[in-house]
Amino acid sequence: MAKRSSFLFKAVFILLGACSFGQTPVLAKEVVIGVFAYQGERESTADWSPVLSYLNGALPTYQFRLANFDAGGLRAAIAQQRVDMVITNPGYYVAMEYEFGLSRIATLTSPQALSPAKAIGSVVIVRADRSDLKALSDLSGKRLAAVAPQAFGGYLVVARELLRQGIDPESDLKEIRFMGLPMTQIIAAVQSGAVDAGVIRTCLAEQLAHQGALRMADFRVLSPRHEDGFECALSTPLYPDWPIAVTRTTDHKLAKRVARALLAMPDTPGGLSWSVPADYQPVHELYRTLRMEPYAFLRENTPKALLHRFWPWLLGFLLVLVAWAIHTFRVDKLVLRRTAQLRESLNAREAAEARMRGHQEQMEHLSRLSILGELSSNLAHEINQPLTTIGNYARSVLRRQADGRLSPEAVLEACTEIDNEAQRASGIVRRIRHFARKRPAVREPVDVAQLAAEARRLLLGMLMHPPAILIEDVTGTGCDVLADGPQIQQVLLNLLKNAIDAGRDLPTERQGIFLRIESVENRQLVHVIDQGCGLTPDDLSHLFEPFFTTKPDGLGLGLPICKTIIEAHGGRLWAEMNPQGPGMCFSFSLPCHVTPA
Ligand code: ADP
Repeated sequence: MAKRSSFLFKAVFILLGACSFGQTPVLAKEVVIGVFAYQGERESTADWSPVLSYLNGALPTYQFRLANFDAGGLRAAIAQQRVDMVITNPGYYVAMEYEFGLSRIATLTSPQALSPAKAIGSVVIVRADRSDLKALSDLSGKRLAAVAPQAFGGYLVVARELLRQGIDPESDLKEIRFMGLPMTQIIAAVQSGAVDAGVIRTCLAEQLAHQGALRMADFRVLSPRHEDGFECALSTPLYPDWPIAVTRTTDHKLAKRVARALLAMPDTPGGLSWSVPADYQPVHELYRTLRMEPYAFLRENTPKALLHRFWPWLLGFLLVLVAWAIHTFRVDKLVLRRTAQLRESLNAREAAEARMRGHQEQMEHLSRLSILGELSSNLAHEINQPLTTIGNYARSVLRRQADGRLSPEAVLEACTEIDNEAQRASGIVRRIRHFARKRPAVREPVDVAQLAAEARRLLLGMLMHPPAILIEDVTGTGCDVLADGPQIQQVLLNLLKNAIDAGRDLPTERQGIFLRIESVENRQLVHVIDQGCGLTPDDLSHLFEPFFTTKPDGLGLGLPICKTIIEAHGGRLWAEMNPQGPGMCFSFSLPCHVTPA
C-alpha cells in the first residue's frame, strides 16, 4: 500500500512538474567515475563526495556516480568500459595511461601540497635513539616497514630514493615488512623496535603530533630534504598529486565540460580543488627506475627490454659507429684520390725525366759530333798520310818489278809497311766511329787513366800538329769508378780540345798539356792543366753557362754538357786559374764505388 501511494505521488509530481514548466522531462545521462579506494569504500566515498556533489550541481544534464575499486578492480572496469572517468593515484595513473590510453584532464590541489606537480612524497622515520641511522644508505641490512609493494607514497617513492643512494631494496635490506593501512601501524612498529625504519606519507607525523597522538621528539627523519615553502618533513622528492582522467571512449564534450567545471570548482571544506593537468613524467621515470609496470619488461633480458634499457648507449654507439664509418669512407676516398694524383704526377715526372734523358743523350751526341766536326779538317790529312805511304810502297813495288829489282825482302818490307799504315788508318776510323756512335748510357767499372790515354790517341791521330799531352796517373788501389766510359771520354776529349785551343796561337812551349789523375778521400780527381791564354775573372764566372763561348765558331755547349755528365755520375766539375803559371786548370771528381758489405 505504502509502495503504491509512493509511486502515485512520484507520477503526479513528475506530471505537475512537466505541466508547470511546459517542458518534457529529460533523463540525466549517467557518468561513472571510477575511484581507486585505497583506504576502503567508506573513506573513499567520504573523501570524494564533495567533488561529486559539485559536479552534479554544475552539470545537471549528467548524473555523476562514484564507483570505488581496488587497483585490480579499477583496471578491469576500465578494460570493460564500465567507467567514464577515473580518479587514481599518480602511480596507477601512469600505468593505465600506458595500458589503456587514459588521459588526465585535471590534477588535484591539496592543502599541504606545494603545487599540483609537487604534492606527494614520503618520510622515512626511525626512533630518535637510533644514532646509527642518519641517511637512507644506512638502511643496508636493516628492517623497513612500508604500506604495500605497489603503494606509491607508501613505498615506491622511497624505493627509488634507496636505489639512488646505492641500496637495492629487494636485496640489500634485511626485511621489508608490508603492513597495509592505516600508516599508524608503521609508526607503532618503528616505535616498538619491531622494525628499524618506517615509510609514511609526508605531513602524517605532523598531523598526528598536532592531534597529540605522537611526539615528534621520539622520531628522526632519514636523509631529510628541504623544499622551499613545504612545511612537513621529507625524505624524497615531491611528485604530482592525483589526477582525474578520461578513457579513450569518454565523450569529448563531457570531458571538456567536466574539465571546465573542475577548474572552476571552489575549495572543498577539506581544502581540495583542481588545477590544469600536471606533468607526470617524474612518475614515469620512477617506474622506469624501479623497472615496474609499465616498465616491468626492463627486468627481462629480451632484445626489446635491453633496447629500452640501453637505448641511449646503443644510440651513442651507433652514432660513433656511423661517424667512424663516414670518417673511414672519407679517408679511403681521400687516400685513393691522393694515390691517383701521386701516381699521375709520378708518371708525369717519369715521362719528363725520360724526355730529359733523351734530350741529354741527343745533346751529348751532338756535342761529340761537334768535336769531330771541329777536328774533321785535320782528319782528312791524318787519313791521307797512311794512304800516301801505302801508295808510295805500292808504287815502289811496281817500279822494282818493272826494273827486275824486286827482291823478296823488298816485297816483305813493302807489305809490312802497307799493313801498318792500313791498320793505322783503320784504327783512326774505328775510334771515330766508336766515339760518334749513338748509344744508351751504361754504368760499369772504368779505368780513367785508360780512357785518358784513348782520348789522347784519338786527338793525336786527328791533329796535324798535336801538342804534347802528358798523363800522370797517381791513383792508388781500392777506388773503383762506376761510370759510362764513352761519356767520361767525351768529357776528357772536350777538356783536352779546349786546352789545345787555348794554346793554339802561343809558342810551342806553352802548348803542352798536363793531365793528372789522383785519388783523394773516396774520389778520383782528374786535372787538365794548360798554359794557354786563360780566362778573365768575368769570363770565368760565366764558364758553365750554356752558349758561353769566346770562339768565333764555338757553340758554348761543351762545358755545360761535361758538367751535366759529371754531376749525373755524382761528381763535380770546376775550373780555376792554373796555380803554377799561366793558363787554366779544369778538374773533375768521380766517387769511388762502394760495394755493399
Ligand atoms: P766552345 O768550345 O764551343 O766554346 P765550351 O763550352 O767547350 O764551348 O767552352 C766555352 C768557353 O770556355 C770557350 O769558348 C773558352 O772561351 C772557354 N774555355 C774553355 N776551356 C778553356 C781553357 N782551357 N782555357 C781558356 N778558356 C777556356
